[in-house]
Amino acid sequence: MSDHVLVINTGSSSLKYSLVDAASGKAAASGLVERIGEPEGHHRHRGPQGEKQTTRRFASHEDALRAAVDAFETQGPSLDDVEIAAVGHRVVHGGSRFADPALVDDELVAAVTDLVPLAPLHNPANLEGITVARRLFPDLPQVAVFDTAFHQTLEPHAYTYAVPAEWLKDHGIRRYGFHGTSYAFASEQAARLLGRDLAELNLIVLHLGNGCSAAAVRGGESVDTSMGMTPLEGLVMGTRSGDLDPAVHAHLVRELGWSMDEIDHALNFESGLKGLAGENDFRELSRRRAAGDVRAQLAFDVYCYRIKKYVGAYYAVLGTVDAIVFTAGVGQNSAEMRATSLAGLERLGIQIDESRNTASADEGRAVSAADSPVAVLVIPTDEEWEIARQALNCVRSTDHSGG
Ligand code: AMP
Repeated sequence: MSDHVLVINTGSSSLKYSLVDAASGKAAASGLVERIGEPEGHHRHRGPQGEKQTTRRFASHEDALRAAVDAFETQGPSLDDVEIAAVGHRVVHGGSRFADPALVDDELVAAVTDLVPLAPLHNPANLEGITVARRLFPDLPQVAVFDTAFHQTLEPHAYTYAVPAEWLKDHGIRRYGFHGTSYAFASEQAARLLGRDLAELNLIVLHLGNGCSAAAVRGGESVDTSMGMTPLEGLVMGTRSGDLDPAVHAHLVRELGWSMDEIDHALNFESGLKGLAGENDFRELSRRRAAGDVRAQLAFDVYCYRIKKYVGAYYAVLGTVDAIVFTAGVGQNSAEMRATSLAGLERLGIQIDESRNTASADEGRAVSAADSPVAVLVIPTDEEWEIARQALNCVRSTDHSGG
Protein backbone atom coordinates (compact mmCIF):
# COMPACT_ATOMS: atom_id res chain seq x y z
CA MET A 1 0.00 0.00 0.00
CA SER A 2 1.32 3.43 -0.94
CA ASP A 3 2.42 5.90 1.73
CA HIS A 4 2.36 8.87 -0.66
CA VAL A 5 0.26 11.87 0.25
CA LEU A 6 -0.30 14.92 -1.94
CA VAL A 7 -0.05 17.82 0.51
CA ILE A 8 -1.79 21.02 -0.55
CA ASN A 9 -1.43 24.40 1.15
CA THR A 10 -3.52 27.14 -0.47
CA GLY A 11 -3.17 30.85 0.16
CA SER A 12 -5.37 33.61 -1.22
CA SER A 13 -3.22 33.88 -4.36
CA SER A 14 -0.93 30.87 -4.07
CA LEU A 15 -0.99 27.09 -4.13
CA LYS A 16 1.86 25.09 -2.66
CA TYR A 17 1.99 21.33 -3.16
CA SER A 18 4.23 18.46 -2.28
CA LEU A 19 4.06 14.74 -2.96
CA VAL A 20 5.41 13.29 0.27
CA ASP A 21 6.23 9.76 1.32
CA ALA A 22 4.65 9.81 4.78
CA ALA A 23 6.92 7.01 5.98
CA SER A 24 10.25 8.67 5.15
CA GLY A 25 9.29 12.34 4.77
CA LYS A 26 10.93 12.40 1.35
CA ALA A 27 9.21 14.64 -1.21
CA ALA A 28 9.04 12.99 -4.64
CA ALA A 29 8.12 16.39 -6.09
CA SER A 30 6.96 19.77 -4.92
CA GLY A 31 5.89 23.04 -6.39
CA LEU A 32 4.41 26.47 -5.93
CA VAL A 33 2.04 28.53 -8.04
CA GLU A 34 2.06 32.22 -7.09
CA ARG A 35 0.15 35.34 -8.06
CA ILE A 36 -2.99 33.40 -9.00
CA GLY A 37 -5.54 35.74 -10.59
CA GLU A 38 -2.93 38.36 -11.53
CA PRO A 39 -2.01 39.10 -15.17
CA GLU A 40 1.29 37.24 -14.77
CA GLY A 41 1.59 34.28 -12.44
CA HIS A 42 4.52 32.01 -11.72
CA HIS A 43 4.79 28.22 -11.36
CA ARG A 44 7.81 26.32 -10.10
CA HIS A 45 7.82 22.51 -10.12
CA ARG A 46 10.68 20.53 -8.65
CA GLY A 47 10.76 16.84 -9.52
CA PRO A 48 13.14 14.02 -10.38
CA GLN A 49 14.27 15.85 -13.55
CA GLY A 50 15.13 19.05 -11.71
CA GLU A 51 13.25 22.31 -11.53
CA LYS A 52 11.07 23.93 -14.15
CA GLN A 53 9.66 27.44 -13.99
CA THR A 54 6.70 28.71 -15.98
CA THR A 55 5.35 32.23 -16.20
CA ARG A 56 1.80 32.76 -17.43
CA ARG A 57 -1.59 33.82 -16.14
CA PHE A 58 -3.24 31.41 -13.71
CA ALA A 59 -6.87 32.45 -13.70
CA SER A 60 -7.95 30.50 -10.61
CA HIS A 61 -6.84 27.96 -7.99
CA GLU A 62 -8.33 25.27 -10.23
CA ASP A 63 -6.14 26.49 -13.09
CA ALA A 64 -3.15 26.34 -10.71
CA LEU A 65 -3.88 22.80 -9.52
CA ARG A 66 -4.40 21.64 -13.10
CA ALA A 67 -0.97 23.13 -13.94
CA ALA A 68 0.49 21.13 -11.05
CA VAL A 69 -1.12 17.91 -12.32
CA ASP A 70 0.23 18.65 -15.82
CA ALA A 71 3.71 19.24 -14.37
CA PHE A 72 3.56 15.84 -12.67
CA GLU A 73 2.75 14.33 -16.08
CA THR A 74 5.41 16.15 -18.09
CA GLN A 75 8.21 16.42 -15.53
CA GLY A 76 7.37 13.55 -13.22
CA PRO A 77 6.74 11.65 -11.27
CA SER A 78 3.58 10.62 -13.14
CA LEU A 79 0.61 10.44 -10.80
CA ASP A 80 -0.40 7.26 -12.66
CA ASP A 81 2.79 5.59 -11.45
CA VAL A 82 2.76 6.86 -7.87
CA GLU A 83 -0.26 5.58 -6.10
CA ILE A 84 -1.53 8.45 -3.94
CA ALA A 85 -3.08 7.30 -0.66
CA ALA A 86 -4.62 10.63 0.28
CA VAL A 87 -4.68 14.37 -0.32
CA GLY A 88 -3.76 16.30 2.84
CA HIS A 89 -4.95 19.89 3.12
CA ARG A 90 -3.54 22.45 5.51
CA VAL A 91 -6.49 24.28 7.04
CA VAL A 92 -5.65 27.22 9.25
CA HIS A 93 -8.67 27.46 11.54
CA GLY A 94 -10.56 24.50 12.96
CA GLY A 95 -12.15 26.45 15.84
CA SER A 96 -13.18 24.41 18.89
CA ARG A 97 -14.67 21.76 16.68
CA PHE A 98 -11.56 20.03 15.32
CA ALA A 99 -9.01 18.58 17.74
CA ASP A 100 -7.80 16.07 15.14
CA PRO A 101 -7.38 15.78 11.39
CA ALA A 102 -10.68 14.94 9.67
CA LEU A 103 -11.82 13.38 6.41
CA VAL A 104 -13.21 15.94 4.01
CA ASP A 105 -16.90 15.62 3.23
CA ASP A 106 -19.74 18.10 2.70
CA GLU A 107 -20.25 18.41 6.43
CA LEU A 108 -16.60 19.32 7.01
CA VAL A 109 -16.72 21.90 4.23
CA ALA A 110 -19.79 23.45 5.87
CA ALA A 111 -18.05 23.48 9.28
CA VAL A 112 -14.89 25.13 7.89
CA THR A 113 -17.11 27.64 6.08
CA ASP A 114 -18.82 28.47 9.38
CA LEU A 115 -15.36 29.28 10.79
CA VAL A 116 -14.54 31.85 8.07
CA PRO A 117 -15.44 34.80 10.36
CA LEU A 118 -12.66 33.66 12.72
CA ALA A 119 -10.09 33.38 9.92
CA PRO A 120 -11.20 35.59 7.04
CA LEU A 121 -7.65 35.84 5.67
CA HIS A 122 -7.01 32.08 5.60
CA ASN A 123 -9.99 29.72 5.66
CA PRO A 124 -11.57 30.90 2.37
CA ALA A 125 -8.33 30.07 0.51
CA ASN A 126 -8.04 26.70 2.25
CA LEU A 127 -11.64 25.93 1.29
CA GLU A 128 -10.92 26.86 -2.30
CA GLY A 129 -8.04 24.35 -2.32
CA ILE A 130 -10.30 21.63 -0.89
CA THR A 131 -13.07 22.32 -3.42
CA VAL A 132 -10.71 22.26 -6.36
CA ALA A 133 -8.89 19.11 -5.20
CA ARG A 134 -12.17 17.26 -4.66
CA ARG A 135 -13.13 18.14 -8.22
CA LEU A 136 -9.79 17.03 -9.68
CA PHE A 137 -9.30 13.94 -7.49
CA PRO A 138 -12.85 12.72 -6.80
CA ASP A 139 -11.73 9.18 -5.96
CA LEU A 140 -9.04 10.05 -3.42
CA PRO A 141 -9.68 10.46 0.29
CA GLN A 142 -9.01 14.05 1.33
CA VAL A 143 -8.03 15.03 4.83
CA ALA A 144 -8.09 18.45 6.50
CA VAL A 145 -5.21 18.99 8.93
CA PHE A 146 -5.83 22.01 11.15
CA ASP A 147 -3.22 24.47 12.45
CA THR A 148 -5.35 24.96 15.55
CA ALA A 149 -5.92 21.28 16.43
CA PHE A 150 -2.71 20.80 18.46
CA HIS A 151 -3.81 23.52 20.90
CA GLN A 152 -7.24 22.08 21.65
CA THR A 153 -5.65 20.68 24.82
CA LEU A 154 -5.45 24.20 26.32
CA GLU A 155 -7.44 24.46 29.52
CA PRO A 156 -10.11 27.16 29.96
CA HIS A 157 -7.86 29.39 32.10
CA ALA A 158 -5.33 29.47 29.23
CA TYR A 159 -7.73 29.97 26.32
CA THR A 160 -10.25 32.36 27.90
CA TYR A 161 -9.86 36.11 27.33
CA ALA A 162 -11.01 38.32 30.20
CA VAL A 163 -13.90 39.86 28.25
CA PRO A 164 -17.68 39.57 28.71
CA ALA A 165 -18.45 35.84 28.97
CA GLU A 166 -20.96 36.02 26.10
CA TRP A 167 -18.16 36.78 23.66
CA LEU A 168 -16.88 33.23 24.05
CA LYS A 169 -20.27 31.56 24.34
CA ASP A 170 -21.99 33.39 21.47
CA HIS A 171 -19.10 34.24 19.17
CA GLY A 172 -16.28 31.76 19.88
CA ILE A 173 -13.88 34.57 20.88
CA ARG A 174 -11.00 32.78 22.66
CA ARG A 175 -7.41 31.70 22.15
CA TYR A 176 -7.07 28.93 19.55
CA GLY A 177 -3.38 29.04 18.60
CA PHE A 178 -1.77 28.08 15.29
CA HIS A 179 1.35 26.41 13.80
CA GLY A 180 0.05 23.15 15.28
CA THR A 181 1.59 20.81 12.72
CA SER A 182 4.98 22.41 13.30
CA TYR A 183 4.64 22.04 17.08
CA ALA A 184 3.63 18.39 16.77
CA PHE A 185 6.61 17.69 14.53
CA ALA A 186 9.19 19.70 16.49
CA SER A 187 8.09 18.23 19.83
CA GLU A 188 8.47 14.67 18.59
CA GLN A 189 11.83 15.41 17.02
CA ALA A 190 13.01 17.09 20.23
CA ALA A 191 12.16 13.94 22.23
CA ARG A 192 14.01 11.84 19.68
CA LEU A 193 17.06 14.10 19.82
CA LEU A 194 17.09 14.01 23.63
CA GLY A 195 16.57 10.23 23.59
CA ARG A 196 13.61 10.61 25.94
CA ASP A 197 9.94 9.88 25.97
CA LEU A 198 7.87 12.88 24.84
CA ALA A 199 5.31 12.07 27.55
CA GLU A 200 7.83 13.04 30.24
CA LEU A 201 9.12 16.28 28.68
CA ASN A 202 8.30 19.93 29.28
CA LEU A 203 9.18 22.00 26.22
CA ILE A 204 9.04 25.63 25.19
CA VAL A 205 8.82 25.58 21.40
CA LEU A 206 9.48 28.72 19.36
CA HIS A 207 8.23 28.63 15.77
CA LEU A 208 9.97 31.65 14.22
CA GLY A 209 9.32 31.98 10.51
CA ASN A 210 7.54 34.75 8.68
CA GLY A 211 4.75 34.05 11.17
CA CYS A 212 6.04 33.54 14.72
CA SER A 213 4.58 31.89 17.79
CA ALA A 214 5.58 30.19 21.02
CA ALA A 215 4.04 27.21 22.79
CA ALA A 216 4.39 25.59 26.18
CA VAL A 217 4.19 21.83 25.61
CA ARG A 218 3.81 19.37 28.50
CA GLY A 219 4.03 15.67 27.71
CA GLY A 220 3.41 16.34 24.00
CA GLU A 221 0.30 18.44 24.68
CA SER A 222 -0.03 22.18 24.28
CA VAL A 223 -0.78 24.01 27.53
CA ASP A 224 -0.40 27.55 26.23
CA THR A 225 0.49 29.35 23.03
CA SER A 226 1.08 32.94 21.99
CA MET A 227 -1.20 33.26 18.96
CA GLY A 228 -4.82 33.85 19.83
CA MET A 229 -8.19 33.88 18.11
CA THR A 230 -6.22 34.80 15.00
CA PRO A 231 -2.49 34.52 14.14
CA LEU A 232 -1.98 38.22 15.02
CA GLU A 233 -1.34 37.93 18.76
CA GLY A 234 1.94 37.20 20.51
CA LEU A 235 5.47 37.45 19.17
CA VAL A 236 6.76 40.05 16.72
CA MET A 237 6.51 38.60 13.20
CA GLY A 238 7.63 39.47 9.67
CA THR A 239 4.67 41.76 9.01
CA ARG A 240 2.39 41.25 12.05
CA SER A 241 2.56 43.29 15.24
CA GLY A 242 1.96 40.53 17.76
CA ASP A 243 0.84 41.78 21.21
CA LEU A 244 -0.62 45.27 21.26
CA ASP A 245 -2.72 47.29 23.68
CA PRO A 246 -6.29 46.67 22.42
CA ALA A 247 -7.07 50.35 23.02
CA VAL A 248 -4.83 51.30 20.09
CA HIS A 249 -7.68 50.25 17.76
CA ALA A 250 -10.15 52.69 19.30
CA HIS A 251 -7.51 55.43 19.28
CA LEU A 252 -6.85 54.95 15.56
CA VAL A 253 -10.59 55.02 14.82
CA ARG A 254 -11.43 57.96 17.08
CA GLU A 255 -8.42 60.19 16.65
CA LEU A 256 -7.24 59.36 13.14
CA GLY A 257 -10.50 58.28 11.48
CA TRP A 258 -9.09 54.92 10.34
CA SER A 259 -11.47 52.16 9.22
CA MET A 260 -11.41 48.66 10.71
CA ASP A 261 -10.11 47.25 7.41
CA GLU A 262 -7.25 49.75 7.36
CA ILE A 263 -6.28 48.83 10.90
CA ASP A 264 -6.55 45.11 10.22
CA HIS A 265 -4.38 45.47 7.13
CA ALA A 266 -1.76 47.61 8.90
CA LEU A 267 -1.44 45.19 11.82
CA ASN A 268 -1.29 42.07 9.64
CA PHE A 269 0.75 43.27 6.68
CA GLU A 270 2.55 46.52 7.54
CA SER A 271 3.72 45.90 11.10
CA GLY A 272 6.23 43.60 12.81
CA LEU A 273 9.77 43.76 11.43
CA LYS A 274 8.48 45.40 8.26
CA GLY A 275 6.76 48.15 10.21
CA LEU A 276 9.77 48.82 12.40
CA ALA A 277 12.56 48.54 9.83
CA GLY A 278 10.82 48.47 6.43
CA GLU A 279 12.07 44.91 6.00
CA ASN A 280 10.49 41.55 6.86
CA ASP A 281 13.28 39.30 5.54
CA PHE A 282 15.36 38.44 8.59
CA ARG A 283 18.51 37.88 6.53
CA GLU A 284 18.38 41.38 5.09
CA LEU A 285 17.56 42.75 8.53
CA SER A 286 20.68 41.04 9.92
CA ARG A 287 22.83 42.48 7.12
CA ARG A 288 21.56 45.99 7.78
CA ARG A 289 22.01 45.59 11.50
CA ALA A 290 25.59 44.43 11.02
CA ALA A 291 26.17 47.58 8.93
CA GLY A 292 25.01 49.74 11.84
CA ASP A 293 21.43 50.46 10.72
CA VAL A 294 19.62 51.84 13.77
CA ARG A 295 16.08 50.89 12.66
CA ALA A 296 17.17 47.31 11.94
CA GLN A 297 18.81 47.15 15.37
CA LEU A 298 15.64 48.32 17.12
CA ALA A 299 13.49 45.82 15.18
CA PHE A 300 15.88 43.02 16.18
CA ASP A 301 15.87 44.14 19.81
CA VAL A 302 12.06 44.31 20.01
CA TYR A 303 11.81 40.88 18.33
CA CYS A 304 14.25 39.17 20.74
CA TYR A 305 12.90 40.93 23.84
CA ARG A 306 9.38 39.68 23.07
CA ILE A 307 10.71 36.11 22.72
CA LYS A 308 12.49 36.41 26.07
CA LYS A 309 9.26 37.54 27.76
CA TYR A 310 7.38 34.51 26.43
CA VAL A 311 10.17 32.14 27.43
CA GLY A 312 9.93 33.53 30.97
CA ALA A 313 6.15 33.27 31.00
CA TYR A 314 6.07 29.70 29.72
CA TYR A 315 8.86 28.70 32.10
CA ALA A 316 6.57 29.79 34.92
CA VAL A 317 3.59 28.01 33.34
CA LEU A 318 5.49 24.72 33.03
CA GLY A 319 7.37 24.93 36.36
CA THR A 320 10.33 22.99 35.00
CA VAL A 321 11.65 23.00 31.46
CA ASP A 322 13.63 20.23 29.75
CA ALA A 323 14.29 22.00 26.47
CA ILE A 324 13.75 25.17 24.51
CA VAL A 325 13.25 24.37 20.84
CA PHE A 326 13.88 26.81 17.99
CA THR A 327 12.31 26.01 14.63
CA ALA A 328 11.30 27.54 11.23
CA GLY A 329 13.26 29.94 9.00
CA VAL A 330 14.51 32.43 11.59
CA GLY A 331 14.57 29.98 14.50
CA GLN A 332 16.71 27.49 12.62
CA ASN A 333 19.08 29.97 11.04
CA SER A 334 19.71 33.01 13.20
CA ALA A 335 22.29 32.20 15.87
CA GLU A 336 22.37 35.87 16.91
CA MET A 337 18.63 35.88 17.53
CA ARG A 338 18.87 32.70 19.63
CA ALA A 339 21.79 34.04 21.67
CA THR A 340 20.17 37.45 22.24
CA SER A 341 16.75 36.06 23.13
CA LEU A 342 18.17 33.69 25.76
CA ALA A 343 20.95 35.95 27.07
CA GLY A 344 20.96 36.42 30.83
CA LEU A 345 18.79 33.37 31.56
CA GLU A 346 21.63 31.31 33.05
CA ARG A 347 19.99 31.43 36.47
CA LEU A 348 17.03 29.63 34.87
CA GLY A 349 19.44 26.91 33.76
CA ILE A 350 19.54 28.09 30.15
CA GLN A 351 23.03 28.26 28.76
CA ILE A 352 23.86 28.45 25.07
CA ASP A 353 27.23 27.22 23.80
CA GLU A 354 28.54 29.86 21.42
CA SER A 355 30.44 27.59 19.06
CA ARG A 356 27.59 25.05 18.85
CA ASN A 357 25.11 27.88 18.32
CA THR A 358 27.03 29.45 15.44
CA ALA A 359 28.02 26.16 13.74
CA SER A 360 25.87 25.67 10.64
CA ALA A 361 24.04 22.38 10.18
CA ASP A 362 20.90 21.24 8.42
CA GLU A 363 19.96 18.67 11.02
CA GLY A 364 18.37 18.86 14.44
CA ARG A 365 20.96 19.58 17.10
CA ALA A 366 21.63 20.89 20.60
CA VAL A 367 23.17 24.36 20.83
CA SER A 368 23.25 24.49 24.63
CA ALA A 369 26.33 23.98 26.77
CA ALA A 370 26.93 20.32 27.71
CA ASP A 371 26.12 21.08 31.36
CA SER A 372 23.15 23.39 30.69
CA PRO A 373 20.26 22.03 32.81
CA VAL A 374 17.83 23.13 30.09
CA ALA A 375 18.71 21.88 26.60
CA VAL A 376 18.44 24.39 23.76
CA LEU A 377 17.63 22.64 20.49
CA VAL A 378 17.42 23.69 16.85
CA ILE A 379 14.99 21.48 14.93
CA PRO A 380 14.24 21.94 11.22
CA THR A 381 10.49 21.86 10.92
CA ASP A 382 8.75 19.87 8.20
CA GLU A 383 5.08 20.76 8.14
CA GLU A 384 4.48 18.94 4.85
CA TRP A 385 5.74 15.68 6.30
CA GLU A 386 3.65 16.14 9.44
CA ILE A 387 0.52 16.87 7.36
CA ALA A 388 1.26 13.77 5.24
CA ARG A 389 1.66 11.61 8.36
CA GLN A 390 -1.47 12.92 10.01
CA ALA A 391 -3.51 12.60 6.79
CA LEU A 392 -2.39 9.02 6.24
CA ASN A 393 -3.10 8.08 9.87
CA CYS A 394 -6.55 9.60 9.57
CA VAL A 395 -7.35 7.65 6.39
CA ARG A 396 -6.01 4.38 7.80
CA SER A 397 -7.82 4.70 11.12
CA THR A 398 -11.06 5.52 9.30
CA ASP A 399 -10.58 2.53 6.97
CA HIS A 400 -9.90 0.35 9.97
CA SER A 401 -12.94 1.45 11.95
CA GLY A 402 -15.10 1.15 8.84
CA GLY A 403 -14.03 -2.42 8.11
P1 AMP B 1 9.63 30.49 7.06
O1 AMP B 1 8.31 31.21 7.21
O2 AMP B 1 9.82 29.38 8.04
O3 AMP B 1 9.94 30.10 5.65
O4 AMP B 1 10.76 31.58 7.46
C1 AMP B 1 10.95 32.75 6.72
C2 AMP B 1 11.91 33.67 7.48
O5 AMP B 1 13.13 32.97 7.75
C3 AMP B 1 12.28 34.92 6.70
O6 AMP B 1 12.26 36.05 7.56
C4 AMP B 1 13.72 34.65 6.29
O7 AMP B 1 14.45 35.83 6.16
C5 AMP B 1 14.22 33.84 7.47
N1 AMP B 1 15.43 33.12 7.12
C6 AMP B 1 15.59 32.16 6.18
N2 AMP B 1 16.90 31.80 6.10
C7 AMP B 1 17.57 32.54 7.02
C8 AMP B 1 18.94 32.64 7.43
N3 AMP B 1 19.89 31.91 6.86
N4 AMP B 1 19.24 33.53 8.42
C9 AMP B 1 18.29 34.28 9.01
N5 AMP B 1 16.98 34.23 8.64
C10 AMP B 1 16.63 33.38 7.69
